[in-house]
Amino acid sequence: MSNIIQLSKPCAFCDSRDNVQLFAGLMLCGNCQDNMHRKTKNSWNMNVGR
Ligand SMILES: [Zn+2]
Repeated sequence: MSNIIQLSKPCAFCDSRDNVQLFAGLMLCGNCQDNMHRKTKNSWNMNVGR
């Protein structure tokens, strides 16, 4: 589906291990991924395009 890879590391932001995945080059939990989605909608397009 996408280039998201499932790994067993804690979230880079909040240290949660809940649904942590590689997202935009960072290990983020489900909650932080959701936050990043909202932030990157406006600003990160060049970095997360792939
Ligand atoms: Zn998190």
